[in-house]
Amino acid sequence: MATDTRDDAGWPVPPRPPEGVVMWNINTTCNYRCSYCTQRFLDDRTRWARDTPRFLEGFRRLPGRWEVKLSGGEPFLHPTLMDIVAGLAEMGHHVSVVTNFSAGIEKLDRFLEAAGAALRVFSASLHREYVATEQEETAFIEKARHVMTRLPPGASFHVTCVATRANLPVLPELVQRFAAAGIRLKVQPEKQQRDVIAYTAGEQAQILALGGHNGLGMIAPSFQGRPCWAGAYAFTLDDRGAAWRCYPARRYRQEYLGNFLDGTFALRETAQPCQYAYCNCTVPIERGMMTRS
Ligand code: SF4
Ligand code: SF4
Repeated sequence: MATDTRDDAGWPVPPRPPEGVVMWNINTTCNYRCSYCTQRFLDDRTRWARDTPRFLEGFRRLPGRWEVKLSGGEPFLHPTLMDIVAGLAEMGHHVSVVTNFSAGIEKLDRFLEAAGAALRVFSASLHREYVATEQEETAFIEKARHVMTRLPPGASFHVTCVATRANLPVLPELVQRFAAAGIRLKVQPEKQQRDVIAYTAGEQAQILALGGHNGLGMIAPSFQGRPCWAGAYAFTLDDRGAAWRCYPARRYRQEYLGNFLDGTFALRETAQPCQYAYCNCTVPIERGMMTRS
């Protein structure tokens, strides 16, 4: 890794990222109830970020250009999704989205139009408890092709699927079916009680053969003790404006960065050691924000 500094523990500090990433859960609302959903124990699954103008003001105050990754719940159910996306694009930020892909073509087109050239990553989740038949799978692929042919330069599209024990046997064939349609399908290990389930060695080998967690070649990444730019160039934001360093920080209710809406939000200035045994923050990992080796 290209670096010229080391932290106090001797770990190389990754280069300062060129662009920050916000992982914003804009709602808890979802039209699905997947058996493996990590949010299914939330008290309230009807919440959504209500004050769009104040959130947009918060994004306007961020230093430089950021990629805002919208997820939920299901972001396409948010009543002002198009205003949010158009507002972020207008102020020069990038927009990415993670969706269960149940939205219709008309709504997807409106999203693509609102994002325009600002779109960076479109991630469609294939939930086989809801897309179960051959016909439903074909319709999913056709919709994916529709979106892919309308992506702006520099944007990418992929599909993810959770490697439940029910899905594992069919995943290799699914990956091939999607690849034949020009679509990359990445697998995600199943989590229960916030941690990756106890896969057998054989199941782990199957997941690794499919690329590991989101194609990262690992099942449960860990960077504990190593420097990471999350908190300075990445943070999670919820529908109420609460910001944490990353998903594990939010899970353990530590490394709170303040509230985006009430003036208490503050970014860190440096990379700091990771405090967590399990990192499920794909976006910072893909952007090289932590020391990987
Ligand atoms: S689509 Fe996503 S948010 Fe909705 S229930 Fe399934 S895993 Fe949870
Ligand atoms: S869990 Fe991941 S994103 Fe969070 S501080 Fe550790 S390495 Fe960084």
